[in-house]
Amino acid sequence: MKQDTVLKVNNFNASFEKNGQIRPILENINFSLTNLSNLTIIGESGSGKSLLCKSILALIPEKCLISGEIVLSTNGETKNILNIKKRQLTRIRGKEIGMLFQNPVASLNPVRSCGKQISDALSEKYVTKSSKRLRVLELLSLVGFDDPNSIINKFAHDLSGGMAQKVSLAIALAGDPKILIADEPTSSLDIQAGIEILDLLHKIKTESKNFAIINVSHDIGQSKIYADDILVLYNGHILEYGKKEQVLSSPNHPYTEALLKCENSFYNGQKVFTIPGKLSYNDKQFLGCVFAPRCKYVKNLCRVENPNKTKTDFGFYNCHFPVEKHLVADK
Ligand code: SF4
Repeated sequence: MKQDTVLKVNNFNASFEKNGQIRPILENINFSLTNLSNLTIIGESGSGKSLLCKSILALIPEKCLISGEIVLSTNGETKNILNIKKRQLTRIRGKEIGMLFQNPVASLNPVRSCGKQISDALSEKYVTKSSKRLRVLELLSLVGFDDPNSIINKFAHDLSGGMAQKVSLAIALAGDPKILIADEPTSSLDIQAGIEILDLLHKIKTESKNFAIINVSHDIGQSKIYADDILVLYNGHILEYGKKEQVLSSPNHPYTEALLKCENSFYNGQKVFTIPGKLSYNDKQFLGCVFAPRCKYVKNLCRVENPNKTKTDFGFYNCHFPVEKHLVADK
């Protein structure tokens, strides 16, 4: 299938001003997606994942200072989302970019039926009442409802969390989006419902092959099953980016290595490994590596100089002393 670039994030920065100090939230973010991309963004709470997703939808908080570009290329048009008018944004949100939120029940309109909410989001090619109804039923069936007719007149309060997330997925797909952003879509669901939603997303994406997915998670284990590419975000910085096979089997960045160790120690039933320390916020621009306070490989250079990007075959990492070097030194 033809591969076209649909999104390019170029040197994107976001920060807030507090007591006269600039507090960076996202720094120098660069990545791109094609219509075939299946990207998982991994990061712990406070890493900037949600702000990054909102920025792609131009849902940027009022007092947030931004720079850089977020360029969307769809339907033969290329536009920087950060520069376009509000009127155009309403077309982009829900039509060109679909979104699944963390809390599906709260994201649905409580006074509008599920069928009407899906119908509201349909692309313009569905004009007549009957074609709209047919497409709504198709979408409900696509997201796993065996009896779509029984869902069409239900309201958010009639649904379980898993059912509400399926309806939200139907809404997100209704505009035939070119990008679907799933911002921790399983965080408010029980394990079974969460797995069902991720399986469903993966199945629809694999069969459709016509839109990019950004799945946001704090669980690197999810990316083992569902991602093609992985982007590791920490304290507003991309620390590593690349193909799943490479990132998971031989991570370059010590933070990625530590996340994998946390994941594996949990599943082996051993004492759970945790990364020492916690993510700290810097009111001042920090000169050295952002992960230095928690990195087991830290050296003097790391505390005074932010590492430059090192390219790999399919991605990059930002570290002066990547994991492989330590493995060689340890032999
Ligand atoms: S640059 Fe230094 S502190 Fe930062 S991750 Fe690499 S080894 Fe650790």
